[in-house]
Amino acid sequence: MPEIAVLPGDGIGQEIVPEAVAVAQAVTRDRDFIWREYLIGGAAIDATGGALPPETLAACQAADAVLMGAIGGPKWDALPAPQRPELGALLPLRKQLALYANIRPVRMTPALIGASTLKPEVVRGVDLVVIRELTGGLYFGEKGRRSAPRAAYDTLVYTEEEIRRIVRLAFQWARARRWKLCSVDKANVLESSRFWREIAVDTAREFPDVELTHMYVDNAAMQLVRRPEQFDVVVTENMFGDILTDLASMLSGSIGMLATASMNGPKGLYEPAHGSAPDIAGQDAANPLAAILSAAMMLKYSFALTEESERIEKAVAAVLDSGWRTADLAEPGARIIGTREMGAKVREAL
Ligand code: NAD
Repeated sequence: MPEIAVLPGDGIGQEIVPEAVAVAQAVTRDRDFIWREYLIGGAAIDATGGALPPETLAACQAADAVLMGAIGGPKWDALPAPQRPELGALLPLRKQLALYANIRPVRMTPALIGASTLKPEVVRGVDLVVIRELTGGLYFGEKGRRSAPRAAYDTLVYTEEEIRRIVRLAFQWARARRWKLCSVDKANVLESSRFWREIAVDTAREFPDVELTHMYVDNAAMQLVRRPEQFDVVVTENMFGDILTDLASMLSGSIGMLATASMNGPKGLYEPAHGSAPDIAGQDAANPLAAILSAAMMLKYSFALTEESERIEKAVAAVLDSGWRTADLAEPGARIIGTREMGAKVREAL
């Protein structure tokens, strides 16, 4: 029986994850899944002394997919960096599960067009996916300090295999969408980018039906806010992706709407793009939709339950079309509801 490790984590994670699980269970009623909850982050530090207890790690390794809320909060900020929830749990978990691809779909929900900081005519019709390499590049290369003269360095290294597997995955995504892939690099300056481009071009021979283009990262940042509808699938290395995914997140109006997946084959860790929002935790005020849409991604990409996944997406759109909003999405005149009621509305709309 397929098994899902559920990690609510801290802050609003405790409130939004139960809604996401309830929605996913409502659409998968007649299928057998094992849903089991485990401790992670600050909650795990309080209970066991460590942010990623061995039991949690083992459960995530054994599970078919992991559904997470968010971790961290002021209570644990004073701990030494490696023990804090983010560094002590999130990075080791991604590493242990070898999750090399971060996938962030960004789609403008028509009902939320007014919630974006960008003009409606710019964000209307935005429907893109950024695929970021997650386990290589500058964040994982050799780094250090030198004395006399004092200096610090980080190195950006990519192997052919690392580039090929992420680019290949991006081509597969493009095939399932609008057959357009834009590979973002800085090939006019960086040797690693020239190599990235070479491998991307070579990999394209396996996907003659997909249109491959290349864009320098500085131009990509500009084009994402200038004419975002030109993009279908974007693939890029770790640091460029880190920056571009946050930039792209603003295209959808609210961070409370964005789901992400970090994947290695069909195995994935699914979580909202936002953090634990300690400022609103425990108030039934958090928007559960990013967590609910994360569960929808999980059904589609880890379990191939495309129809069930799309039912959830349509239910979310229907609830927003009816004017229901959590406080973060509210425009004047909106009908504001809490976390639990938003979850219930989505279940009703399924
Ligand atoms: P955050 O995303 O938690 O919050 C930023 C702002 O957005 C806050 O005002 C918050 O109230 C609001 N917000 C976020 N999600 C919301 C939602 N679902 N509904 C309504 N409003 C929402 O970022 P932060 O404040 O910088 O970080 C808070 C904590 O979360 C920190 O400890 C940080 O390290 C951690 N964090 C964890 C993750 C993760 O678990 N993947 C990611 C980012 C931040």
